[in-house]
Amino acid sequence: MSAATTTVDLGLYPELQRYGARDIRACFSCGTCTASCPLSQTDSTFPRRIIRYAQVGMKDALLTSKELWSCYQCGECAETCPTQADPSEFMAAARRYAIASYDRTRIARTMYTRPILGTALAVLVAMFFALFMYSAHGPQSGESLALFTFIPEELIHNIGIVVMILVALAGLSGVVSMARGIARREGAGVRSLIGSRAALARSARAAWAAVARESIGQTRFRKECEADAVPVAWYRRRWLLHAVTVWGFLGLLSATLLDYGLALAGIKATGTPVPIWYPVRLLGTVAGVLLIYGTTSLIVERYRAANRSVKRSTTADWMLLGLLWVTGVTGFVLEVALYLPSAPWWGYWVFLVHVAVAMELVLLAPFMKLAHAVYRPVALFFVALAQSSAEGDA
Ligand code: SF4
Ligand code: SF4
Repeated sequence: MSAATTTVDLGLYPELQRYGARDIRACFSCGTCTASCPLSQTDSTFPRRIIRYAQVGMKDALLTSKELWSCYQCGECAETCPTQADPSEFMAAARRYAIASYDRTRIARTMYTRPILGTALAVLVAMFFALFMYSAHGPQSGESLALFTFIPEELIHNIGIVVMILVALAGLSGVVSMARGIARREGAGVRSLIGSRAALARSARAAWAAVARESIGQTRFRKECEADAVPVAWYRRRWLLHAVTVWGFLGLLSATLLDYGLALAGIKATGTPVPIWYPVRLLGTVAGVLLIYGTTSLIVERYRAANRSVKRSTTADWMLLGLLWVTGVTGFVLEVALYLPSAPWWGYWVFLVHVAVAMELVLLAPFMKLAHAVYRPVALFFVALAQSSAEGDA
């Protein structure tokens, strides 16, 4: 392995505090958090090594720690820590700091460290989308809910394409920086990743573990991080609420894109009423129900600080859940409005809010906690690679 370049930044600790870390100077490296963490069986220094990086200002080491993204913020370590260091919240704060550091626009930094400005920015972005679309509005038919006569379909599609391009650029730039940093630190180059059949097979297995087993299947989250938690009913399990929220959001996004695809292919014009069993509508309905259930439950859990993993919430946590919830609920209300016998006047306004908030949610995704959906699998890929090398060496 090649040695990593280390930058000592004495401002790292106060900076991390701005992202929500508590008093990590109180940490005296006792190792209790390591002993209690369900993920530390294969790493006897996790998570305290990452706290140590922050204490001594090793910014590069912190940002290129693949293990930073292994943590599921179960809160177990916070309960056993004998000081006020709160390692669980530290790990969450360090991930926020990492997302902001990989973001060159500084939007993520504003969202995380300046809650009032971040909230104002989010409100302004939603208002901009709503007003921009409304400026091109047409008549509101009272006979049927003619949504695309009210807001031209082409305008929505064009805005959607611009938003997707911006998100792809911002997301790619961040994730490439992160992957390059971790790869450099791990000594993983093109040859060691895909330079031979054996390397290719090892990379494919690591990708499978990171994407299929951990990100889609949430295996360790389900089996290890939940194992010691206070027992709750199955429908309130953390991993389940997380899964239905993610799949609900992705399902709605897919239904929207598929609907657009059907319109492009000339199969069905967007907004045409179809029976409930029509595949795209069915997908959208099921995804909407999952999203509403997941986000409503997560909001209630956070509000009640119902378990150790949600003892503390940041403005950014609330904002993300709020945007997801509004997107799900307005989408569902719209679905009901579309199939009412006569067109309700409010259906047009719900439509405008739904599209504006959904656009905002996608646009801000690379700058919010949602970004971990991309960062985590990349980091877990390197975790799986390291494990496979260690097993090979053993
Ligand atoms: S964070 Fe707490 S439990 Fe972990 S090593 Fe530091 S003092 Fe010990
Ligand atoms: S929050 Fe849970 S997974 Fe994360 S370091 Fe602490 S004990 Fe481990």
